[in-house]
Amino acid sequence: MPRLGRPPRVHLWHIGCQMNDADHEQLAESFAEIGFIPDVPLEDADIAVLISCAVRSNAEQKVYGKFKELIPWKRERAGRAIALTGCMAVEHGSALLQRMADLDYMFDVREPEGFFARLQSLYGGDVDGPVAMPASDRLLAYVPVMGGCNEMCTYCIVPFVRGRESSRATAEIVSDVQRLVDRGVREVTLLGQNVNSYRDPESGAGLPELLGAVDEVSGLRRLRFLTSHPRNAVPQLFEAMRDLPSVCEQLHLPVQAGDDELLHRMRRVYSVAEYREKIATAVATVPDLALTTDIIVGFSGETEAEFEGTVQLLRDIRYDVVHIQAYSVRPGTAAARRPDDVPLVEKKRRLNHLLDLQRGIARERNQTLLGRDVEVLVEGLADNGRPYGRTRQGKVAWLPAGSAHAGELRHGRVVAATHWQLEIDTVTAAA
Ligand code: SAH
Ligand code: SF4
Repeated sequence: MPRLGRPPRVHLWHIGCQMNDADHEQLAESFAEIGFIPDVPLEDADIAVLISCAVRSNAEQKVYGKFKELIPWKRERAGRAIALTGCMAVEHGSALLQRMADLDYMFDVREPEGFFARLQSLYGGDVDGPVAMPASDRLLAYVPVMGGCNEMCTYCIVPFVRGRESSRATAEIVSDVQRLVDRGVREVTLLGQNVNSYRDPESGAGLPELLGAVDEVSGLRRLRFLTSHPRNAVPQLFEAMRDLPSVCEQLHLPVQAGDDELLHRMRRVYSVAEYREKIATAVATVPDLALTTDIIVGFSGETEAEFEGTVQLLRDIRYDVVHIQAYSVRPGTAAARRPDDVPLVEKKRRLNHLLDLQRGIARERNQTLLGRDVEVLVEGLADNGRPYGRTRQGKVAWLPAGSAHAGELRHGRVVAATHWQLEIDTVTAAA
């Protein structure tokens, strides 16, 4: 291996859920600690790290596509290397190293020590001690509060690739948030695959108490959390959302389907009636609550009547945002033993039907905001000079040109609304 004579430079790329986004940040910090320069553009890099996703087959295809793009990059200059981590590394293990001849390293993102030790022994002569993390104007950050998932939804690969649930200590999370806020972050999203089963390892305190502790970090303006499982969505959580000033009025509560038999086959452990009850309690507790969910269409054996249950649920609950996916068989899961018997064209028809329905509902819901005052955290200026950001409910909002800068909180009146964004006028600074 030729000496570089300078610190190695690393390009990091990720796809998939917010956990991968958080892992990207964490890996960048670890590279800086061992004296590598993280987050450089690909053309300047010596090492490319792919943080992969295995939740659906099309995510995996995108990772393979990205890997193919890297092969000419690697061959262009001797000494370049490609590493792969994330959920595909656990799912496929060393089989990937055999299948992908140009892949140099593979590691489990939960245990990266061996990978870093190997890099340190290879590049030790090129580094001069820890490097400062590049200055960041990041306003929003994700903070993992627990890893893994103990649910065993039959379609899902997450428990296989992320392991059993394990929560981090509240004090550690609070100090992470404080450090991010000191660096300029204003909004934090606490992450877990099943975040509302969070338990502080020592005190046993749950998510409502954790939200209370993080809410006290001075300088933090907004706090969100993802992803809640309906079984653990308890009234105390909704009360914390209502009572804690920084916690935003947004609840992501994936339902997946609107039929009891289908939910049973998915092993979601709640009935449609129980889910509706939780939503009713949340809406009654938290004023101006935005609701979002995830839906899978075309799961094994999904009949037209079962699908109609999902349609009806969307009509009744009237979510703000719905993430809809076509069912994708994941090898090794319980559902992989059942037939994938809804034809692709039918999956697509059901998906498009829900998308159309939801577009109308979202537009109507957003239009009820016309004339109302909302709070926007300005995230940046678009090319046309207009500031944009999000409301506490997570809706994209556009402000008049020249009315605000990134990082500011602004109040304004909603003057126009489409299914996915708001126009704001007569802007004032937030108290
Ligand atoms: N822990 C979260 C999210 C898990 S994965 C939860 O319980 O909701 C994110 C979303 O991907 C899921 O909500 C589900 O809608 C979708 N998903 C997971 N596995 C899938 C599969 N095999 N096919 C299609 N969509 C899937
Ligand atoms: Fe997957 Fe279910 Fe766990 Fe969510 S709760 S990560 S869908 S197993």
